[in-house]
This record gives sequence, structure tokens and C-alpha cells, in this order.
Amino acid sequence: MSFADDQSYLSKDIADVDPDVAALLAAEARRQGETLEMIASENFTSNAVLQAVGSVLTNKYAEGLPGRRYYGGCEVVDQVEQLAIDRATELFGCAHVNVQPHSGATANEAAYMAVLKPGDRVLAMALAHGGHLTHGLKVNFSGRLYEFHQYHVRREDCRIDMDEVRELARQTRPALIVAGASAYPRVIDFPAFRAIADEVGARLMVDMAHIAGLVAAGAHPSPVGIADITTTTIHKTLGGPRGGMVMCTEELASAVDRAVFPGLQGGPLMHVIAGKAVALGHALTPEYRQRQHQVVANCAALAEALTDAGVSLVSGGTDNHLLLIDLSATELTGADGETRLDDAGITVNKNGIPFDERPPTVTSGLRVGTAALTTRGLREDEMREIGAIIAAALAPQASADDLAALRVRSRAIGDRFPLYAGVESGTPVG
Ligand SMILES: *Cc1c(COP(=O)(O)O)cnc(C)c1O
Repeated sequence: MSFADDQSYLSKDIADVDPDVAALLAAEARRQGETLEMIASENFTSNAVLQAVGSVLTNKYAEGLPGRRYYGGCEVVDQVEQLAIDRATELFGCAHVNVQPHSGATANEAAYMAVLKPGDRVLAMALAHGGHLTHGLKVNFSGRLYEFHQYHVRREDCRIDMDEVRELARQTRPALIVAGASAYPRVIDFPAFRAIADEVGARLMVDMAHIAGLVAAGAHPSPVGIADITTTTIHKTLGGPRGGMVMCTEELASAVDRAVFPGLQGGPLMHVIAGKAVALGHALTPEYRQRQHQVVANCAALAEALTDAGVSLVSGGTDNHLLLIDLSATELTGADGETRLDDAGITVNKNGIPFDERPPTVTSGLRVGTAALTTRGLREDEMREIGAIIAAALAPQASADDLAALRVRSRAIGDRFPLYAGVESGTPVG
């Protein structure tokens, strides 16, 4: 029998069809379970979301919007996308939402395209002070297409310098002001940004990629209804599948929709949109809200434990799901710190800190987040123990043996909170 006659490959298990990839999926499931995942932009999504993302919806082309598609056979995926839209609307109280952006970066691209022309001026947070590469990095599309100007945090307390934001807004008269960050541990004052935008006649965009889960649960003030456009990822604190979405006022609805398609994207990832619907459904539950508040409580407990152990933090602490360890007064670089914590069984990333004197490939900081471990069930007691492990790993005299011993302690904490019972294969159960 030739391959063309054998239809059975369509229905076989990945372990039988492709043992190489299957082994890697299992290896990654093991890695995620055996280390303490504290990368602030990561989270663990549910088995239900994994199932939606691993579903037959990946087969479907559905360019267009529910009820207005360029393909036949969309009667089921129309309902899936409408569910995602309805749940996002209920969760965030937005006037309009487009759930199709493939990522946070694409969501931002769509938002810019909806309200800017190439060459327009934009005011956003400096990357080195916590902003994102889509907020005007020279080699990014944003920095190439638009004229970005950058505001900063104050040196004395590392809070966003709203006086500088106002001054720069008056000087540069931007078409758009962007609030939102990838490495800012404090509450962002959206009404203050709105007032400045109104004063200079700019639109306001909030990129809440990092804090969307906290916003959904009321653990951080919401920008929706204050900003003209709010963009987000779905996979960070929000806890869903990898992807993005754009919320906006009714006035901007069609500009945003047209920017996403046909402006930027072709067919939407309907399997991922199904995963977004499931994740947004989770986010509407009281348990989810409770967990998001626990994320913040856990981060506060970790910050306190680190501070008590003599580890210095940017801005002296945190209001949200992440903190930044400041190594600038030590011999250790951020890169060293990342390796040390890796050896101690804790996964984080090196991160520039405001006014960093070391280059971006080395840095003087570590960004640490509590969203993923909170999803896994860890609470304040575990955070205090992790704080002690981190402090010990970053101590000047820590030896390879010390780090190995710390790794055993990290592993023991993880073992008490099994990740994904039954998902050892790295693929969804059921
Ligand atoms: C993560 C992030 C993004 C981009 O999200 P991707 O899905 O990685 O493209 C955009 N803006 C901010 C503030 C982010 O933190």
C-alpha cells in the first residue's frame, strides 16, 4: 500500500507518528514542572485552553469577522469568535473588541495603524525604563514607521515622571500617548495620562499586556473607558493562550477591525480564538479573581522577604505581579544572576533597570514575577521561602555546591504543587 492510500496517519498519536517531537514535548512538560517558573511574562494556561488550542479549529480559514467572512463553512467558528468577543466585553466593559491579533506585538501594530499615519509622533515609555520594543525601538516596526519620543521614571523613586510626560507632550504634540510597560512594578495612573492627552489633543493608548489579569480582577485600576485604545496579550497574567486583542471606543471600532484585517493579518487563528474564549470564561469566575489578588499578595510577600534578606529592589518594592531586583551596587550582573538562579532551580530573566550602567546584554537587574507560580497554587509561605533561596543564590560567596543545594530546595517546593496532573506528555489530557 502506498502512503497515499493509508489514511490512518491522520488519526494517530504524536508519540507513534513523530517520536522526536513527542519526546521534546514531554521534556518541556518536565522542565516546566521541575523548575520554579518566575519569568514575569509567563503563566500556565489550563488543560481546557490547551485542548481548544490543540483542536480541529486550526484547520479553518475565516478571514473577516463573525457573520461577514470571506469563506464558507464559518457557522461554527463564528459562534466561537462571538463567545470570545462577548466574554471580553463582559470582563473588561469595553465598547468594542477585536480578538484576532496573533500576538501582543500585532495588537499594538493594529492599534497604531488604526490611529496613526507613518511619520506621526508618539510619546511612550523608554525601553530602558520598562517599556516594550513595540513602543518605539529603532529596529522595530514601531520605531521605523513612527516618530517615537520617550518618557522615563524619576531617579529618586523610579516612578513614572508625570511631569516629564506633560512637558514632552507639550513640546512634541504627539498624535498618540502610550502608557503601559513590560518591567514596571508600580500602579500606572491612567487618569493622569488621560488628562495630559486631552491637554495636548493626543489620543491615549494603554498597552496592558503585563497586567491584564490583574485588571480583569480589579487588582489594578482598569484603563478601559479611559484610554481610546487598550491592547493586551492573552498569555501573561491573563493566563490564556499565546495571542493578543485590541479594545477601543465605538468611534475607532472599524478602523481597528480594518487594521487587523486586511491591514496586517490574513486568516485568524480560530483554534487560538477558541482558547481565548475559554480563558476569558475562566477570568469571569470568582476563583480567578481571587487568584489574581493572590498573585499580587504573593509578589508583596516575595518583595518583603527579599528586602529583609538585604536584596535591593527597583522602586523599593512592588504593587503588581512583578518586581525588579537591583544588582547595580553588587559585583553580580543581571546575566550572572540569571545563571545563578537557573542553577538554583528558579527561572527568571535578566533585565535592564532604570539608569543601568551595564549594557543590555548584561544588565544590572533581574525581573521576577509571581503569576505562573500562583496559578500553580503557591502562596505567601512559599514566596518567603523562595525569597530566601533567591537571596542565598545571589550572595557573593554562593558556591556551585550551595546552588545545587538550593536547587534541591526549589524542587521540593515545586513537588508539593504538581503542575498539570496527567499532562506528562506535554499535550492536553482528554
Ligand atoms: C509582552 C508585551 C508585548 C508583546 O507581546 P507578544 O505577544 O510577545 O508580541 C507588548 N507590549 C508589552 C507591554 C508587553 O509586555
